[in-house]
Amino acid sequence: MKPLQDSIGRTINYLRLSVTDRCNLRCRYCMPEEGIGKIAHGEILSYEELYRIAQVAVAIGIDKIRITGGEPLVRKGIVSFLQHLAEIPGLKQLVLTTNGVLLEKMAADLSLAGVQRLNISLDSLDPKTFAQISRCGDLARVLAGIEAAQSCGFPIKLNMVVMRGINDHEILDFATLATSSAITVRFIEYMPAIREHGWQQLVLPGSEILARLEQRLTLIPLEQAEMAGPARNFRIAGASGTLGVITPVSHHFCSECNRIRVTASGTVKGCLFAGSQIDLKPSLRSGSDLLLAQTLGAIVDTKPVRHQMTPDECHHQAFNMSSIGG
Ligand code: SAM
Ligand code: SF4
Repeated sequence: MKPLQDSIGRTINYLRLSVTDRCNLRCRYCMPEEGIGKIAHGEILSYEELYRIAQVAVAIGIDKIRITGGEPLVRKGIVSFLQHLAEIPGLKQLVLTTNGVLLEKMAADLSLAGVQRLNISLDSLDPKTFAQISRCGDLARVLAGIEAAQSCGFPIKLNMVVMRGINDHEILDFATLATSSAITVRFIEYMPAIREHGWQQLVLPGSEILARLEQRLTLIPLEQAEMAGPARNFRIAGASGTLGVITPVSHHFCSECNRIRVTASGTVKGCLFAGSQIDLKPSLRSGSDLLLAQTLGAIVDTKPVRHQMTPDECHHQAFNMSSIGG
């Protein structure tokens, strides 16, 4: 099959598919304190509609799908949906991002359904800090979820959003997790999605994260594997796990961007920070797979060359990450 390419020749093979805007946490970087208006139930795509989008996306060149949300594991029927998705011919990778709260009881089912890898978001190893960042989370449940996922044999990536003055003192503790166990720990720069007042102070650039790690650890750069995504990855001398640093703000990776995003209400976006988007519902409801393929193709064609955000400035309209899927 001919690869799906955008107007500047980037190959687009990765779809982030959000199945819900609902969440059982309220992370401070993802949504404002006052919470968010939920999308009406009737506006949320059915599993049949989400499946059709996935199937058509794979038919035009997508071979990796990440299921995201809100929190994908809160949507009823998610396991059977995933099982169905995993059977799409041509889909090479089905992976999922979760906050881990429900993983303890769901990890085994996710594995049986055909999910190949899990990214688990975890921003603190201290119960109080974790509860403050997530505004309600119970760290013990997430840790139990991670353990359950490991016992099911899932390769695990832990994603920590690093915020100066909030959890940056824990960077080395997180790195230590990768020395004692075969997991990947990824440090993600805080993105000003919600444009909270003073966000610039929260951004800890990837270069500073690395410098702090290198004061204590010997980091050996790893070759960028195919489908590895935007992280710069490192092996730690003498350790079984690996580390990654993701720098969407200080050092954007737009030239290698390979993704499109579909929200739970059926909006397709070519870039998190660009205003351009297309409502897929009319194409979906027309019943024509050709029209759906053309609409997905149109967002690929109009993918912006890069976002305009820097550690000091951003120009996008504030949005809740939970409504797009990160
Ligand atoms: N609820 C799931 C979770 O938290 O993993 C999936 C959805 S969440 C929106 C997807 C990812 O986006 C998470 O890893 C989260 O940490 C990340 N994220 C959300 N807001 C962010 C921000 N402002 N800056 C950096 N990462 C963010
Ligand atoms: Fe929920 Fe994930 Fe957003 Fe946290 S980051 S509020 S867990 S959607």
